[in-house]
Amino acid sequence: MPPLGGGTSKKSFNSANPCPPVRRNVYNFAFNAMATRTSPGPKPVIIREVGLRDGLQSIARVLPTAQKIAWIREAHAAGQREIEVGSFVPPRLLPQLADTAELVAYAKTLPDLCVSVLVPNLKGAQRALESGADVMLLPLSASHAHSLANLRKTPDEVVQEIGRIRAARDASGGSTGSRCLIEVGISTAFGCTLQGRVEPAEVLRLLQAALDAGVDRVGLADTVGYADPEMVRDLFERCLRVAGDRLTCGHFHDTRGLGMANVYAAWQTGITRFDACLGGIGGCPHAPGASGNVATEDVAYLFASMGVASGLDFHKLIALRAKLAQWLDGETLYGSLWRAGLPKTMSAAPAGKL
Ligand SMILES: [Zn+2]
Repeated sequence: MPPLGGGTSKKSFNSANPCPPVRRNVYNFAFNAMATRTSPGPKPVIIREVGLRDGLQSIARVLPTAQKIAWIREAHAAGQREIEVGSFVPPRLLPQLADTAELVAYAKTLPDLCVSVLVPNLKGAQRALESGADVMLLPLSASHAHSLANLRKTPDEVVQEIGRIRAARDASGGSTGSRCLIEVGISTAFGCTLQGRVEPAEVLRLLQAALDAGVDRVGLADTVGYADPEMVRDLFERCLRVAGDRLTCGHFHDTRGLGMANVYAAWQTGITRFDACLGGIGGCPHAPGASGNVATEDVAYLFASMGVASGLDFHKLIALRAKLAQWLDGETLYGSLWRAGLPKTMSAAPAGKL
């Protein structure tokens, strides 16, 4: 990973994008009787913290900016190198995320941190470009009904918007070579509470259309927790045949308890980058009572237990989770690792590194 700003001032936005290229894991297993000590190990995984966006947008209370900054600072200190700090949506729609520009500015002062923001449209993308974010994530619903409900556009209209965003991004680069990556998250890829079934063929069609429109990266999201590991394996394999190394992210909610199994299934296809929320916060407005994203600390543990590094520090993550529980007093947090701690066989790991 190159140092932020190539050694220039920490505040010089975008002089070098700190987001490393995401490489697929070519070792589709961690434990395998045939693996020998000399076998090259599996590639490290990247866990992008999305609690400040996907988590907080589903919680009615507005977390003060100072606490969000503390969250970003301590998540970075715990080893997180990708954080989605907010969303450039109109504050009247999501007052919880109204301070996103301020959070990007702060996050960009931290070394080697890839700062991402969600954008719903061209206007949001322009704000992302102005903010200096490293990645802008645009949701593209594979469900026609969800797309209309969420963005008031059909999926094909969103694809057209992606083309305009790509043009705006290219025009903004100037001579500095700055480049905000455009990532499309294909949401409701495994089903939708409004529409029900989502055809894999439609996901593949939209995936190709997004690639043709010039996105840098794509990911698949189980927005409402309908996926199972077989569906995940099948759809990721099919999408990898279309997108290759540009398919870089799995985004899973634990709505029905299959979140971790789905992370594992995607990893087996070669995916090495996953979204997660500290404490599994979040949820879905269409599934009351449903738990949120897979928990950051549990995903880190899943990989650590299989010998796959995430670079995260267990003790620091758990301490930050305790703070988050205080900040969000009264909200339900999820996850398992915080209750039991690391097993004896792992607790001797240096500095609790997962
Ligand atoms: Zn989500």
